[in-house]
Amino acid sequence: MKMYFLYSIATVLLVALVWMGCGETLDPVGPAQSLNVSASKKPAIDVARGADPELEVVVFVHYPAPASQGLGGPSFTDEAKHFKVFRNGYRWLDTDLPVEFNIDASGSGVPGAEIEAAKSLATWNAVPNTEIIFDETLESVSSPIDIESKLIWDEENTISWGDLTSLFPRAISVNRVVFNTFNWIIVESDIVLNNAEDFTWGIGSSTDYDIQNIITHELGHSLFLDDLYGRSSSELTMYGYSDIGEDKKQSLGLGDKLGAQKLYGN
Ligand SMILES: [Zn+2]
Repeated sequence: MKMYFLYSIATVLLVALVWMGCGETLDPVGPAQSLNVSASKKPAIDVARGADPELEVVVFVHYPAPASQGLGGPSFTDEAKHFKVFRNGYRWLDTDLPVEFNIDASGSGVPGAEIEAAKSLATWNAVPNTEIIFDETLESVSSPIDIESKLIWDEENTISWGDLTSLFPRAISVNRVVFNTFNWIIVESDIVLNNAEDFTWGIGSSTDYDIQNIITHELGHSLFLDDLYGRSSSELTMYGYSDIGEDKKQSLGLGDKLGAQKLYGN
């Protein structure tokens, strides 16, 4: 009886060890679902496998601040040191720097939108002790109107405006980043700013979303920085919500700079 009991335990242990071993050798990357952390605090992330099994996609979705945000409470500053990397170890390849972006500003309704986007690129480049991350020369392109086609993997990084109602209702903007799980390299980033009826864009206007404000935030995702939702991060560029007329994300806070240095420091 005792022998049988011991034998059973040994069998269970053996099976468990073999099973654990298989898990490690057969699936080193881990299932894509493990990334799908769409808990209530993170409505922002939607992950799906790309066409190539080594490619994965994350869509960072930027929403207006909920009504409960922004009233009262302690006053925080952009000296907060917080930053979060979406996946440790992932970045653009050195030889792919500076990262080039195209822009199709035809859907913005704002003359000079390209200049605002270029300011956002320059802002991240100005972080001390980092590589030059972005090519500040934006190439103007005319991309197809269909919003879904602007988000496909086409080996071009594009900033454009489109109606996001059908894909991401209520979103101000999205950044779809494609990355390779084999060599941990980011291969593409496409930013779309929502021009649906409720979303109007401007430059320093109190009644519109500020172009430079939102694009600077989105470019942080292009570096692979993640959103921050804690109230103490509310003055940082990577804070996960924005408002009409807001311009505080145009300039980087301490945490934003520390994040850029962590990823692209030299
Ligand atoms: Zn974001």
